[in-house]
Amino acid sequence: MGINGMESYIIAASILSADFTRLGEQIAEAETAGVDWVHVDVMDWHFVPNLTMGPFIVEACRRATNMPLNVHLMVDQPETMLEAFARAGASHIIVHVETCPQIDSTLKKIKALGCQAGVTLNPATPASTLEPAYPLADLVLVMTVHPGYSGQEFEPEVIPKIARIRRRLHELGSGARLEVDGGIS
Ligand code: ZN
Repeated sequence: MGINGMESYIIAASILSADFTRLGEQIAEAETAGVDWVHVDVMDWHFVPNLTMGPFIVEACRRATNMPLNVHLMVDQPETMLEAFARAGASHIIVHVETCPQIDSTLKKIKALGCQAGVTLNPATPASTLEPAYPLADLVLVMTVHPGYSGQEFEPEVIPKIARIRRRLHELGSGARLEVDGGIS
């Protein structure tokens, strides 16, 4: 518990914003500056119109820091990649509900690999799609931009959905963390 009985906050910094010629140093600087988690945005040029990084970079981050690695899979068929990212050292693996026809079974697979399981949804995807995920999710990530590019502006129209998901987690007695991603400085 943090100040005034508020839940404590975690800051996850996306390495998409890092200078990749000195990734290790940048991660160390982020940690010194008070960052708690390293967020890794994986994009596949299919689910989103951009291509970023694979397990190899997660492995490099794992060697560079002991901070939890918060891996966000913006990819089609994430099930095919779970093991590779778990083996590379991911602490949390977050999948998009839009890409998982059986979200509960995907989350179970993530947990069986020894990682915390996260679910996320795009700004246009309704909160109700998360219902089958709630019993298993350790983390719910709400996208506050349309995924695919870094540097977009936070979309305030997503705020009521964040509140709705927080209420639902509370109603269900879920201890899942609620994370927001995109355009947050
Ligand atoms: Zn992300």
